[in-house]
Amino acid sequence: MARTSRIPGFFKHSVDERRRLVAEATDIAPHEFDAASARGGLDVGTSDKSVENVIGVYTLPFAATLNVRMNGRDVIAPMVIEEPSVVAAASNAARIVRQGGGFTADADEPIVAAQIQLLDVDAPEEARACVLAAKSEILALADRAVPGLVARGGGARDVVVRVLGEPSDRMIVVDVHVDCRDAMGANLVNSIAEAIGGRLAELAHARVGFRILSNLCDRRRVRVRCSVPMEQLATDNMSGVDVARGMEEGSRFAELDPYRAATHNKGIMNGIDAVVIATGNDWRAVEAGAHAYAAREGRYQPLAIWRREGAHLVGKLELPLALGVVGGTLRIHPTARLALKMSGAQGATDLAMIAATVGLASNLAALRALASDGIQRGHMALHARTVAIAAGAANEMVERVAERMVELGDISLEGARRILAHDTAVIGSAATAE
Ligand code: NAD
Repeated sequence: MARTSRIPGFFKHSVDERRRLVAEATDIAPHEFDAASARGGLDVGTSDKSVENVIGVYTLPFAATLNVRMNGRDVIAPMVIEEPSVVAAASNAARIVRQGGGFTADADEPIVAAQIQLLDVDAPEEARACVLAAKSEILALADRAVPGLVARGGGARDVVVRVLGEPSDRMIVVDVHVDCRDAMGANLVNSIAEAIGGRLAELAHARVGFRILSNLCDRRRVRVRCSVPMEQLATDNMSGVDVARGMEEGSRFAELDPYRAATHNKGIMNGIDAVVIATGNDWRAVEAGAHAYAAREGRYQPLAIWRREGAHLVGKLELPLALGVVGGTLRIHPTARLALKMSGAQGATDLAMIAATVGLASNLAALRALASDGIQRGHMALHARTVAIAAGAANEMVERVAERMVELGDISLEGARRILAHDTAVIGSAATAE
């Protein structure tokens, strides 16, 4: 059966029904889906073996982003996130984009750099020449440290030497570019850095310093683009043309002001991080790389920009994204493995394109809201449910209290408590009357 990410009315179903619908749409056996998602993933025993000083397991909501169409195929993107409205916003934006044909994405080869710091270097240019003259030997030595990766077509590809700082720093760095194939690569690359450090120090007549990967993996970039017919951006109160203009102005604002760019990028990372976490990947590494890349020209900039082109609004996102579909947390986390299967990702590069696509969808949703109704209208209506739960509402009372708070325009803990107290009193008096 062809995958579809379009499941109208999905949100109206119960959690069990939604699970069944996603299992059906992604061709995953329902029992496999239930086993991996119902209990919230890791058990405490496995957790105790994966990190230190474990005292329990901490769970988060696991959701499906619908309507995503990327490079001509449908994707149900898994998201793990605690923030209300992000999943709905991304799904809604993806629905708008699919009407113009969907997202297009492409990515670089999965290259991550091992960095070897060399110190006490008296003649940096000579040291650099000596290291580069031994490039084939270094690449071979690096490959010997990761035979499993080499067997799968990956391995060391290039050696770059840079002189750092002032002559008084006496420091050079050797970057060894490693093709990590379907792994995120941190452990693989760190193994290489440690394996070749000693030989590099000999070649450069230097002392070896730090040996570790760089999370600014700017040779492993992913790009996503979408072109939205402006009329699709219209809201109840505004034409699509006006919304598109506001979104372009908002993009320029982020391009000119790092204070705005930080929030613009946070909206993008709402989508990306949720997919990264769902699929058991290292979101700290992703965040570090994304923000370092955003500041690469010496000023913090937006990762995505938007422009009007003819009758369309065009969005373009680019960022480094080192994700894996093997190794890391995926070895032990059943829900992460299920999420990966649900995404239909064909490999690490494909998963990076999916995550970035959800990032651009999230950005579109935020900019459209900011250019029209403002961010609070949609956000607070969904946030109201969390407030209702915090005030003590349960089951059907959650929706009831949330809706009443929205009607009254007062979404606060006090407001929720007042509504709850009132409704409980009404229910109590009805029960007494009976
Ligand atoms: P890993 O240590 O699990 O290594 C990947 C393994 O998968 C290797 O043994 C490799 O041979 C094997 N493999 C099987 N099929 C493969 C394929 N098709 N392509 C590539 N490899 C294949 O994982 P990793 O990706 O090297 O490291 C990721 C982990 O490192 C994450 O858990 C991350 O949190 C952690 N980490 C991150 C940092 C950082 O980002 N600064 C630092 C240290 C550790």
